[in-house]
Amino acid sequence: MNGRVYLVGAGPGGPGLLTARAVELIAKADTILYDRLIGEQTLEGARVDAELLFVGKQGGGEAVPQEQTQALMIERARAGREVVRLKGGDPFVFGRGGEEALALREAGIDFEVVPGVTAGVAASAYAGIPVTHRGMSTAVALVTGHEDPSKGESELDWRALAAFPGTLVFYMGMRHLDRIASSLIAAGRPAEQPAAVVERGTFPDQRTVAGTLGTIAERARAESVKAPAITVVGEVAGLVDELQWRVVGPLAGRTVTVTRARERASELARRLAELGATVVQTPVIRTRALPGPPIDPSPYELICLTSPNGVDCLFERLDDGIHPPGDSRSLAKARIAAIGPGTARALAEHGIEVDIVPERFVAEGLVEALEQTLADGKVGRALVARASEARDVLPDALRKRGVEVDVVALYETVAEPLSDGVLARAREADYITFTSSSTVRFFLEAAGEKGLSGATRVISIGPVTSETLREHGIEPHVEAERHDIDGLIQALVTDAATQA
Ligand code: SAH
Repeated sequence: MNGRVYLVGAGPGGPGLLTARAVELIAKADTILYDRLIGEQTLEGARVDAELLFVGKQGGGEAVPQEQTQALMIERARAGREVVRLKGGDPFVFGRGGEEALALREAGIDFEVVPGVTAGVAASAYAGIPVTHRGMSTAVALVTGHEDPSKGESELDWRALAAFPGTLVFYMGMRHLDRIASSLIAAGRPAEQPAAVVERGTFPDQRTVAGTLGTIAERARAESVKAPAITVVGEVAGLVDELQWRVVGPLAGRTVTVTRARERASELARRLAELGATVVQTPVIRTRALPGPPIDPSPYELICLTSPNGVDCLFERLDDGIHPPGDSRSLAKARIAAIGPGTARALAEHGIEVDIVPERFVAEGLVEALEQTLADGKVGRALVARASEARDVLPDALRKRGVEVDVVALYETVAEPLSDGVLARAREADYITFTSSSTVRFFLEAAGEKGLSGATRVISIGPVTSETLREHGIEPHVEAERHDIDGLIQALVTDAATQA
């Protein structure tokens, strides 16, 4: 049985602009073929075992030839795989989706087309430009700017475009903007008509440059606007000043590397992006549950958890022989301590309200916070459930107070392979964030001798992570005051305000 091919529009790249159908298909796909202009977060929802094939242009290099992409798609479908062919924007708007659909039809492969939010409309909207507007523009044309208008063979009819009674939106036109504008003017479009260029529309670092048809090419050059960008020509482009609605976040124009494990990175990445940062996801680590016997929590008066991942792994193994395995009720007798709010939240997802969370989210803080609990002498036996490579501060402190402690290593941290391209971008970012000692160790191991670029500012979540950085000869520029994600973001934003 042949698999099916889905020609899916991924939207213009900004967070949240995928359709629900696209999200659903990305999550199910066996194979995903994707291009360059796909938003960072788009592939996050793919299955871990999905085959991800990049078929776009790398940097200024050659793209995978169209025939090869089509052959690959057909071959995977014939092998019975569910294939998602993911394209920026809409697959049928300058996306060669039509050609691919024809090739599939010819090969006898079933396909489905999932429209996407096209860049010309989305980037305009995010810049405050309605492409149609009562009394101003009753039509909109999506035009390729790919062709060099000075060459004779241009398929574009400049007179017709100049006379078009509405808005013109040019895709792929940055290299020829000069000649596009002058050709339109020469063909009779007024030079004083408003025009705007929107670069990386809907991305956190979107930029708009506005002017008139006569000035737009010059302005775009002065601002060194680069692809991807669209150019809007028409009265509606004059609405940018009035309708501009996007708030420029405090991290706009900054690139920030996030080194956390993929499972944990998305919240931090999303929040940084919301503040305007361009996030380089560099998941240098992955956690792997360690096998082991079921854990019966009934003998413990105190259970300490030191990470959200530890919570998930604990519930996987929980079995008191009375309640069903993994049932929260088996924890009812013990007091529960969490190292910080992230861990507390993970427990809350299992219906457990923690009894103890320290003010400082490090093991030492937890020891302090436990003083009172330990003082009444009711804790005879405690369970510390954690990662295999954790420090012994907490179990040592508990033992010193006469508590019998069982330490269970629930999971280990292993390296996640990263491409050279990702590592290079990570090293060159304005900021790099470290949320644990293991992210430091594994990042530096992956980065090898090159280490960090001198210009990158290093943000550490807390003293333990900072110490690990120093052991590797790196002095963090900033250490978060609050040792959690909120604190880390706060520290970054405060620092960015002081950096030109
Ligand atoms: N199928 C896509 C277009 C692909 S052609 C769609 O429907 O959007 C590629 C061109 O799209 C780029 O050269 C640029 O002009 C435009 N483009 C794509 N993403 C963009 C973005 N986020 N902001 C501005 N223009 C974008």
